[in-house]
Amino acid sequence: MQNDIPFKLFNTETKQKEVVFPIDGKTLRFYACGPTVYNYAHIGNFRTYVFEDLLRRSLEFFDFQVKMVMNITDVDDKTIKGAKENNLSLEEYIKPYFDAFFEDLKTLHIKPADVYPKATDYIQEMIDIILDLLNKGYAYTGTDGCVYFSIKQFSNYGRLSHLKLQELKKGASQRVNVDEYEKEEASDFVLWKAYDEKRDGKIYWDSPFGKGRPGWHLECSTMAMKILGKSIDIHAGGIDNMFPHHENEIAQSECYSGRQFVKIWVHSAHLVVEDKKMSKSLGNFYTLRDLLDKGYSGRQVRYLLMQAHYRTPLNFTMQGLESAKLSLDRLQSFIERINGLDSDTSFPSMDKTIEDAKISFSRFLADDLNISGALSVVFDFIRNIHSLCDNNALGKQDKKKIIEFLQSINSVLGVLELNKEEAEIPLEIKEALDKREEARKNKNWPLADELRDFILSKGYKIEDSPKGPYVKKA
Ligand code: AMP
Ligand code: ZN
Repeated sequence: MQNDIPFKLFNTETKQKEVVFPIDGKTLRFYACGPTVYNYAHIGNFRTYVFEDLLRRSLEFFDFQVKMVMNITDVDDKTIKGAKENNLSLEEYIKPYFDAFFEDLKTLHIKPADVYPKATDYIQEMIDIILDLLNKGYAYTGTDGCVYFSIKQFSNYGRLSHLKLQELKKGASQRVNVDEYEKEEASDFVLWKAYDEKRDGKIYWDSPFGKGRPGWHLECSTMAMKILGKSIDIHAGGIDNMFPHHENEIAQSECYSGRQFVKIWVHSAHLVVEDKKMSKSLGNFYTLRDLLDKGYSGRQVRYLLMQAHYRTPLNFTMQGLESAKLSLDRLQSFIERINGLDSDTSFPSMDKTIEDAKISFSRFLADDLNISGALSVVFDFIRNIHSLCDNNALGKQDKKKIIEFLQSINSVLGVLELNKEEAEIPLEIKEALDKREEARKNKNWPLADELRDFILSKGYKIEDSPKGPYVKKA
């Protein structure tokens, strides 16, 4: 049904809403810039990841087959600095942040990407691309031993961020060898950063251009092209990644491959606090843990982050979180009411009511992910059904249909608890079950047994199902 409605996304490059369809006619190849695991992610970062998840879920709701890749930046200026200061290897240093990131994704009900490549697993591929760019004359070695991309060699530089010519000229005489720009100016950017013992300690890779490590921009281009192919359908990130990161990704990828790198670029606006971007450097941030410690759930935080349109800045306040909680409570109490329907009455136009709601919900999503429109359809539907319940017009046949409808929209929203039993299982039990699964995968049988005993001691037992183990009251 959804296939009759064209799914449109706003492309930052063309500044137009464009119809999505896969380049290869089969699979949408979707790359999202992932975290630099040098610290715990904050909920500003998660606004972007929740948006990307919502987009991926919506595309799947529209029956697209999606292959999604999110990279993990495990080597850049920040991870090297952290590892060196703490006298740890890069791997040891990033581990707690890496693990916390995946735990947070689960808490926020973000569907796992198909691949989470780590930059350090693709160093040879990055070296190969640099060699190619040097051979073709797009790159040069600076007096500092770093290899740079020469932006004046790429006539399309600025295509994404719509930079003015004047700014580009300035760039021609400038070079930047840090991973992020201080100023919004175009500059030749680093592809390979030469090793400096004092700064980098023991962290370097050998290459034909000397010891060093790849530049951050090159990491994303390489992983995207190696895993998804030279032309990809959708590339997403927060708006701060648009320039210079994504502009530079285009330049180096297209000079390497000779093809258009990305068909549709999508960028999400920031989560802000009093008009300022939530960021580590400003110190105006909350981590997900901070909010869980205050008693909020992952679903409530997800609801807060996803309810505003992705291209509109979202102001974070505790009051906003509280009202997200109230909206979600309304949805949950609706589900409880529906679960209680058990009479033989049935509403003659239930199929039509649901079909209409589903079409309106789909139309809003297909219009550049108009989530507030889609949510308003859900709340209108609920109001309508509540009044039918008030008039005792619904029974168990209707319950089945309504729950199925809610399941289908929840495949997009990911915030509802539709299974009554699941809703009542405490978080610590769900977490113990996940940890037990992890322990079993790692063949750590004593730990797996310990976790099973813990679950039993709390009055729950583990059952198996085709979808994997689950817990229920003993
Ligand atoms: P970083 O770890 O800083 O590279 O950021 C990871 C992702 O989070 C990128 O896609 C950023 O654009 C995004 N991001 C960072 N801060 C915010 C914010 N305050 N609101 C929304 N997205 C953000
Ligand atoms: Zn990136």
